[in-house]
Amino acid sequence: MPKPVLFDGHNDTLTDIFQPEGDGTRSFFERSDQGQLDLPRARAGGLAGGVFAIYTAGAKEEPFERKKLKRGGYEVPYAAAVDPGTARTFTAAVLDFAEAIEAQSGGQVAITRTAAALAAQLEGGVFSMVLGIEGAAAIAPDLRNLPYYYERGVRVINPVWSRPNAFGFGVPFRYPSSPDTGPGLTAAGRELVAACNELGIVVDLAHLNKKGFWQVAGQSTAPLVCSHTAVHTICPMSRNLTDDQIKAIGESGGLIGLYYMPAGIRPDGKDNRDTPLAAIVEHVNFIVDLAGIDHVALGSDFDGAPMPYGLADAAALPHLFQMLAKAGYDEADLAKIGYKNWLRVLRETWRA
Ligand code: ZN
Repeated sequence: MPKPVLFDGHNDTLTDIFQPEGDGTRSFFERSDQGQLDLPRARAGGLAGGVFAIYTAGAKEEPFERKKLKRGGYEVPYAAAVDPGTARTFTAAVLDFAEAIEAQSGGQVAITRTAAALAAQLEGGVFSMVLGIEGAAAIAPDLRNLPYYYERGVRVINPVWSRPNAFGFGVPFRYPSSPDTGPGLTAAGRELVAACNELGIVVDLAHLNKKGFWQVAGQSTAPLVCSHTAVHTICPMSRNLTDDQIKAIGESGGLIGLYYMPAGIRPDGKDNRDTPLAAIVEHVNFIVDLAGIDHVALGSDFDGAPMPYGLADAAALPHLFQMLAKAGYDEADLAKIGYKNWLRVLRETWRA
């Protein structure tokens, strides 16, 4: 089987490598045994680019500190809001870092600003780095600095992470749980969606709760995108999409990027890395049956979540595609899942 071209709709690699309090020892250009994604491992796995999220953590955050619930479930308490000043400083520093990677790459890596550039990069072997902001605390509620972020290359925005901010209320991590966890977007959040439509920035539905999802669905003029999630009917976790949400994304011409984290894909919701890749294939099959092959894509969450042992890092991606081929997906299907669906949706959403 020829190695497919792959585009990944969500990773936290830029933020993870930048973090001064992180390991601080790995470079995007060197193959590391830490983390899950770097340029050599992307090349080894056929990954030609992806959306690199800039994520500002809270001040004293212990993410994924699970509180056990009765009858085997869990809940991660709502993370505290991020200070907007902190988010602005951090986001600007990570944008500088992304530019430094581009500059140091000798033409191997480029920050992608247009769909034409994306197509050329994916097919021409220049690694595409699309910049995203995950949780929009850095954006002023009156949106006065949104053009600045666009100018710097930001092309995807998640209005919220799993916490509240000026734009809305994220969905807390909870299993089992409906995604209906509270109020959705604020008035400022609705303004942000309209402004993103106008500028040509993807409004990423990941981490929004049910109300927020349907507000965006009712308002946005662009195809609906949820970059890193999975099927709620298979794994009833609060972050996952219900059948009617999956259908709505399909009907809008949008896509669902699948993540690989065991707690998000396993029917039992367990954080158990000993999870076969067949579990991911189940989610692909479900979305294809419900919405069609044009609406399922990759959204790894590399460097943002634990991965199954069989997909421990980006270099292992061909294993997933071998499984998909075995499940009956032909070359055209694999190209859609691999990158063509993302390319189509970004082309329709981005201006120029
Ligand atoms: Zn996320």
